[in-house]
Amino acid sequence: MKIKITVMKQTIYEDLMEMYENKIEHACLEKIGNVYYTDGIKKPDGMCDSAWETIMPFAKDLINGKDNFYDGWMRNKKSAMLSCNDGFRPVSFYIEVVE
Ligand SMILES: [Zn+2]
Repeated sequence: MKIKITVMKQTIYEDLMEMYENKIEHACLEKIGNVYYTDGIKKPDGMCDSAWETIMPFAKDLINGKDNFYDGWMRNKKSAMLSCNDGFRPVSFYIEVVE
């Protein structure tokens, strides 16, 4: 059993970046369609560090057999829709248990 992570969508808020952000060199580089696999402990190679911080506890729970987050949130109980912490460029990741 492992966890599959798929990059589903990305939004970029140019107006908020203009108003509040210093130019950064290491913005999230995830692209829609990127796919990663993890055992719930090790960050997949090349994956956004900030996104992994958010995803890791859920991936770990799924690997340990916990599911049904927030009591009925996801149609697939063994999954979650999560996002990177960068609020200027939210990226949505679908994580699911695969055999
Ligand atoms: Zn990111």
